[in-house]
Amino acid sequence: MIHRIVVSLQKNKMTNTSKIVTQLPLMEAFYTIQGEGFYTGHAAYFIRLAGCDVGCHWCDVKESWDESLHPKTTVEQMVSEAVKHGKLVVITGGEPLMWDLTHLTAELQRHGIQTNIETSGAYDLSGSWNWICLSPKKNKLPVQSVYDAANELKCIIYNKHDFVFAEQQAEKVNKNAKLYLQVEWGKREEMLPLLIEYVKENPKWIISTQTHKYLDIP
Ligand code: SF4
Repeated sequence: MIHRIVVSLQKNKMTNTSKIVTQLPLMEAFYTIQGEGFYTGHAAYFIRLAGCDVGCHWCDVKESWDESLHPKTTVEQMVSEAVKHGKLVVITGGEPLMWDLTHLTAELQRHGIQTNIETSGAYDLSGSWNWICLSPKKNKLPVQSVYDAANELKCIIYNKHDFVFAEQQAEKVNKNAKLYLQVEWGKREEMLPLLIEYVKENPKWIISTQTHKYLDIP
């Protein structure tokens, strides 16, 4: 059973809450297979919004950081493309919650599309969500409202200290959230054996693998 989480307009860093946000900086949109976390293996249309100030040094989409490099695209255009590609949309970034996503998610859901988000949680939620994947980053910790609403906690393992960080994040997230650990792609040879042993010893965690990279799809 998918629950719908409705979040009213809240103050996001780059949002004027008095107006409906009808245009957002779009880096790319593509139809593929979700490779990570709870929805692994599901066909999904990804909308990657530009803009991120979290600054993870291992980020594999650094070209998303500067939103001014990506065209402002209307919600209408984004939704009209999304409806051609199945019933599941994943909004990602960048950090998508830098933007007020109320209008975008309302329009997607009005067309019968499930709305999932991948976020660092560094900004307050806006929008109406069927599934929230929280992937916290040390540089800019999540706000409490995202810990409370997350359906899934996905912690990235780049080094040994990330296991400690992941446990700290698991303490903060709501009790119903599913707990995933995922090796950073560039460190998989070194860290995957440690991750496997860690999950065997701490079975509350589930391994998430970037299966789309093994499948060589976007
Ligand atoms: Fe990259 Fe995501 Fe970190 Fe932003 S939050 S720097 S997009 S990994």
